[in-house]
This record gives sequence, structure tokens and C-alpha cells, in this order.
Amino acid sequence: MSRNRIANRKRILVTGGAGFLGSHLCERLLADGAEVLCVDSFYSGTRDNVRHLVSNPHFEVLRHDVTESLTVEVDEIYNLACPASPIHYQRDPIHTMKTSVFGAMNMLGLAKRTGAKILQASTSEVYGDPEVHPQIEHYWGRVNPIGLRSCYDEGKRAAESLFFDYHRMHGVRIKVPRIFNTYGPRMHPNDGRVISNFVVQSLNGEELTIYGEGSQTRSFCYVSDLIEGFVRLMATPDDVTGPINLGNPEEFTIRELAELTTELTGAAAAVRFLPLPSDDPVQRRPDIKRARDLLGWHPEIKLRDGLAKTIDYFRDVAGNAG
Ligand code: NAD
Ligand code: UDP
Repeated sequence: MSRNRIANRKRILVTGGAGFLGSHLCERLLADGAEVLCVDSFYSGTRDNVRHLVSNPHFEVLRHDVTESLTVEVDEIYNLACPASPIHYQRDPIHTMKTSVFGAMNMLGLAKRTGAKILQASTSEVYGDPEVHPQIEHYWGRVNPIGLRSCYDEGKRAAESLFFDYHRMHGVRIKVPRIFNTYGPRMHPNDGRVISNFVVQSLNGEELTIYGEGSQTRSFCYVSDLIEGFVRLMATPDDVTGPINLGNPEEFTIRELAELTTELTGAAAAVRFLPLPSDDPVQRRPDIKRARDLLGWHPEIKLRDGLAKTIDYFRDVAGNAG
């Protein structure tokens, strides 16, 4: 019997563990007393995100691409590996699709062999540019299957299919959260997501780049709220599979987000309007009734407060770099 078993620590694999969400998740799982294996190809994540964890004897980092199979012994798997921002996932769309599909198959195969529970980081992008608002889990979505976002959207949809087929065919214990726009410290400063862009631009005294007229909406969830949702979902009984929306139901236009950012940084409120990217969803807001009922979960951090923490983080990073 291994030392870990004797210590009775849960062994948890986090793929994409060196990314934005993954690094916060690893931190949380270690704090909860688990043995954590962080697997990452460093495609969009960095060692810096987990540097503060490497001295912990219960934490291990393995460079590995999830499109290749992996043989480890674990009790739980959080499958987060996948570039998440449009700039990153569109850079090599074929590899993005492979990451979602082959990555899901490899991790599901691992879950099947080990009997581990497995959580898939799915996304609100499975709803595409939705006609149903707010988005509820039984809505099937409106995704352009051949557009620039399809490598990500269809990859994530295929991964959901695989999860439910492994569950039905092989009894694999699955958990499928659909994550809505999440933000916070350790977002990549150059990955083009709206909050990191606006904060970095504002702190640098640059114009904020609003795509389209800025009337499109998003609902922003602070990272600690999301991680709490993950952990609660993983702990649910086996008949709770999801899909289950995790996100903050407070909805803002992109223009409102720009105004709030400049208010909080104290910078001059200059904006520049750029063309709207193709297939950019017009509106997005989660219906979180299922998460409230099944997990007793709801987000606690208001955008104003989470944004202030995120601004502090980017200020510190810039200060340390300078
Ligand atoms: P991120 O880019 O910071 O993290 C993804 C991590 O996966 C990175 O560390 C990257 O290097 C790693 N990775 C990518 N391809 C890999 C591969 N083939 N093999 C191994 N590692 C690989 O993004 P994030 O925001 O932390 O997103 C984490 C997960 O959550 C993703 O699956 C994403 O689709 C999902 N998600 C995130 C959001 C959000 O708003 N942050 C919303 C919906 C879904
Ligand atoms: N966006 C913007 N300016 C930016 C970056 C993004 O206006 O500098 C818009 C983008 O067009 C989208 C919204 O902000 O409507 C959210 O974009 P993000 O890439 O963060 O997430 P997603 O589109 O995947 O929800």
C-alpha cells in the first residue's frame, strides 16, 4: 500500500493545472488536504502560476499533453486542459479540437480504468449565440459548426457527448459544469479576454478596445466562486452528473464593464471601437437554479469587488516586472 493511501489523502489529477482556473483549483485542493498532480503542456498556462505550490510535498507537476494517454493512479480527475480564450484557441484550432476530444477520451479512459470520478470543464460556449435567455441547461444551443469559434465550441460539445456516453456505457462517474466567463488573478495578460484586456489597457493608460458597439452582454464570475462550485459538484452523489451551469447571473454590457474598469483604476475613460469578431455571442447569462438546488451554490463576489482584486493583481504584476 502506498504512503498516500496510508495517509488517506485523496489523489487528485488536475489537467490544465498550470492555467488560470487550474492553478486556483490546485491551491484549493491542497488546502483541503489532497495529494495533487498537476498535468499541463504549458500551451497557455505557465509554471509561474503554480510556483508558490511546488514546495508543497503533496503537489507535483508533470509536463504532458492530454492528447496523449496518461497512466497514473488517482481518485478524482478535473479535466481543465484546453486553451480558453479566443486568441489562444484559434491559434492552432486543430490542436484545440484534439485537446478537447482526444483529451476527453484519454481522461475518460483513465477514469474508467481507475474508477476515478471525473469532472469536465465545459463551457457556456456550448450554447453558441443563444436565442434562449438566460441560458438553461436543457437548451441545446446555437453554434456555428464551421466558424472560427467552432474548434472550441464543437470540441467542448463533443467532449460532453463522450462524457455522457462513457457514463451510460461504462458507468464512469461524471460531473459536467458549464462554466460562464470567469475572471480573477492569474488570468493571462495577453490572452485577449475582455477583463484582462480592459484592466491591462487601463493600467497602461491606453484606450480600452470595445469590439462592436459594446452592447453585447456577459456575466462575470469571480474565480473563488467558481472553484467553490467545482468542489461542491465533485462532492455530489453519483447520480448528479450535470450538465450544470456555473456562473454569475449578474449581466453587464461590455460598455458597462469598460466604464466600471476605468472608474476602479482611476484612469482616463478613453475607448476605441474595433470590429466585432465573427460569431461573437450577443448575450450571455446563466440560469443557475440547478446549481442552487443541487449544490446549494451561488456566487458571492460582486463584479465591482472581484474587478478591484483583479486590478490589484495586475498592478502588482506590473510593479514586480518593472
Ligand atoms: P487557461 O488557458 O489559463 O488554462 C488552460 C490550461 O490548459 C493551460 O495551462 C494550458 O497550458 C493547458 N493546456 C492546453 N492544452 C493542453 C493540452 N493539450 N495538454 C495539456 N495541457 C493543456 O484557461 P482557463 O481559463 O484556466 O480555462 C480552464 C478550463 O476551463 C478550460 O478547459 C476552459 O475551456 C474552461 N473554461 C474556462 C472559462 C473561463 O472563463 N475562464 C469559461 C468556460 C470554460
Ligand atoms: N471584447 C471586447 N474588447 C476586448 C476583448 C473582448 O469588447 O478587448 C468583447 C468580445 O467581443 C466579447 C466579450 O468582450 O463580446 C467577451 O469576450 P471574451 O473574449 O472575454 O469572452 P467570450 O467572447 O469567449 O465570452
